[in-house]
Amino acid sequence: MSDCIFCKIIEGELPSKKVYEDSEILAFHDIQPAAPIHVLIIPKKHIASLAVAGAEDWNIIGQMQRAASQIARELEVVESGYRVITNIGANAGQIVHHLHYHLMAGARLSPLGVHN
Ligand code: 5GP
Ligand code: ZN
Repeated sequence: MSDCIFCKIIEGELPSKKVYEDSEILAFHDIQPAAPIHVLIIPKKHIASLAVAGAEDWNIIGQMQRAASQIARELEVVESGYRVITNIGANAGQIVHHLHYHLMAGARLSPLGVHN
């Protein structure tokens, strides 16, 4: 996807602060962190969101979750706790339409819910 920010990061056309990479997955620090630790975990394959992932994508999605566990261990936040979420569509606040998990940690996170 030529106009996708995350595809450009994967291709190295845009810089990122990488924390993890393998043949299928990339993880890097969020440019506008909403927590002391805020990492984005993305598949190298362009998938717009979890809502449009197909049967051929479940393995990659499992790998993203495996990567999340590994990154949490490496960043030493397992004991203190962390959150892994993905936003789908407008009401969830999805702004980048390339599937990504947010891994957030490093402080007590606010509860999930409706925006006031
Ligand atoms: P969404 O709201 O789509 O779930 O989250 C997109 C996230 O991507 C936001 O937290 C935003 O700060 C982050 N983001 C957007 N553009 C860039 C970028 O160019 N580099 C990095 N590292 N993060 C980005
Ligand atoms: Zn993309």
